[in-house]
Amino acid sequence: MPISLNFGEITVSAPVARSLAAMGYGEPTPIQAEVIPLVKSGQDVVGQAQTGTGKTASFGIPLVEMVDTRSPDIQALILTPTRELSMQVRDEILRLGEYRGVKTVAIYGGQSMNKQLTALDRPSHIIVATPGRLMDHMERGTIRLNEVKTAVLDEADQMLDIGFAPDIAYILRRTPRSRQTLLFSATMPGPIRSLAHRYLRNPEWIRVGGEAEPVKEVRQVYYEVAERDRTRLLGNLLKAPDSITQALIFRRTKVGVDKLERNLRRSGFDAQAIHGDMTQSQRNSVIKRFRAKELRILVATNVASRGLDIPAVSHVINYDVPDNLEEYVHRIGRTARMGRPGTAIIFVSEWDFDTLDLIQSHVGNQLERMAPA
Ligand code: AMP
Repeated sequence: MPISLNFGEITVSAPVARSLAAMGYGEPTPIQAEVIPLVKSGQDVVGQAQTGTGKTASFGIPLVEMVDTRSPDIQALILTPTRELSMQVRDEILRLGEYRGVKTVAIYGGQSMNKQLTALDRPSHIIVATPGRLMDHMERGTIRLNEVKTAVLDEADQMLDIGFAPDIAYILRRTPRSRQTLLFSATMPGPIRSLAHRYLRNPEWIRVGGEAEPVKEVRQVYYEVAERDRTRLLGNLLKAPDSITQALIFRRTKVGVDKLERNLRRSGFDAQAIHGDMTQSQRNSVIKRFRAKELRILVATNVASRGLDIPAVSHVINYDVPDNLEEYVHRIGRTARMGRPGTAIIFVSEWDFDTLDLIQSHVGNQLERMAPA
């Protein structure tokens, strides 16, 4: 099959066209159509866009095109708030740059420093990093950013929420002043605007999803429910007509996952578990059925959900509350993708009010309290 060098109105090189074909990206999403040409022209860009709009490829495609693969230098730096996002962005850029020979490495906390040092022994063109770990490397001299042409601040609002502002300052000061800077954020409160004014030069402001085509946000709701009543509430929600087409349910432990799976099946629901004790091929086959919509309910631990490419679902249910904000954000990112609506539900039991406060302080009044079902 001949490969088209046109991606909508955008011209791409043959190797990138091959990646796009392999990834099934036939047409640019709205944000890609706007952002890619600007980035290619060297312009600084502020993009207001949620996860699910295709924002990663909106900077990923021009970056992999611009990299000089003959040079051993790090030419692009992408900062992300969480290690999950670092891995996700790295994976997408790896695929986009695969046939151009672009080397992309993710640097994040929680992984052994040695492993990352080995990865850095070979030249890397693009680095995707969380700020803390990147700074460790910079201080040790294992990463140098003096040849960076483009810096990307991804999910900047979350980075500020986590308190990364000083780290961002430290890192960007060690990149060339002549660099191009891109900033992406789901929300644009004052502090993000000042961040943009501080680090970007005459940026073009792009917002996807105006009045005409709203980017559907995740609807976030919670139920106050006693711990022992959670199974009953879940059953009621799943039985309500026309509500939940497909649900991804999170539990903290493997034992909890198995127990809930058994309960659900006993009540006649089409549910399966996924966790780290299963073999990779068992996990893959469950995900395959879930993706094909042959399975309605997937009960998962966080760990299982991380490494896996779980498809978007109509409902994410936090049956056990997440351990921290990062995890919450990661979990709810599994719904409302590519403009489709989605709902994230939290079961708040008698022990969980601190966590609820934390989430509320992050998402504010977007989180709705629901009457018991
Ligand atoms: P993101 O907003 O970057 O998290 O992307 C959301 C999802 O859309 C990811 O699963 C991407 O693989 C997918 N995606 C991004 N761009 C395109 C495109 N042009 N066509 C189809 N799918 C896309």
